[in-house]
Amino acid sequence: MIGAGGVGSPLITYLSRSGLGNLDIADGDTVSLSNIYRQIMFGESDVGLNKAQVCARNIKQNISIIKVNTHPCLTSIDDYMKLGTFDMIIDCTDNFESMLRSNKYAIATKTRFLAGSCEGEEGQVFYYDYRAPQTLEKHGCLQCFFNKEVPKKEEVNYVLGPVAGIVGCYLAKEVLKLLGDENYQRSSFVSFIFGNAIREFIPQAAGNCQHLPNPAVKPPSFSYGDISRY
Ligand SMILES: [Zn+2]
Repeated sequence: MIGAGGVGSPLITYLSRSGLGNLDIADGDTVSLSNIYRQIMFGESDVGLNKAQVCARNIKQNISIIKVNTHPCLTSIDDYMKLGTFDMIIDCTDNFESMLRSNKYAIATKTRFLAGSCEGEEGQVFYYDYRAPQTLEKHGCLQCFFNKEVPKKEEVNYVLGPVAGIVGCYLAKEVLKLLGDENYQRSSFVSFIFGNAIREFIPQAAGNCQHLPNPAVKPPSFSYGDISRY
């Protein structure tokens, strides 16, 4: 997982307590006092410490069987590629640039990719299974999604703490289902989390993803299913 903040904190908590064998946490940021209201892995005494390392310390205090690796210095796609492959890559950074880098890494290593972010009182969760070659053809990728005209929300510069918690718990639920339940098969979905509702839809990208070896020049159609409803 990349990003151990407001969304990452509950995710780490549930994953580490669920029998997960190996968890790699990448975050180069240090804890600041203003993080604590929503980044529930950290307390006042952690201010100034690396977030990934504090998370690893907290996990090990409660759960002994899990193996945790921390990566405080990953900045480029080359850094990621050196780590090799994972069962799943999860981006919780809430940072556009980082999410696209993680997306690229997941495509390059042909693995499952999950990402969650939040803004104000709303959240989004994205999932693409890049193990299947058809995913890019049928559903595109996260970059395709961001390239499209998505109804623009009003700009906000805060996150309501519990909303980050909802997104993190939603991610944790999906990780456990996707990795642990062989009957739960999904190739792609996007979920919008509003104040009182969660809506999910399946992106449809018609073979025009730029990561495809031969992307369609003029795709016959391109839509994100029933996104227009939102
Ligand atoms: Zn794409």
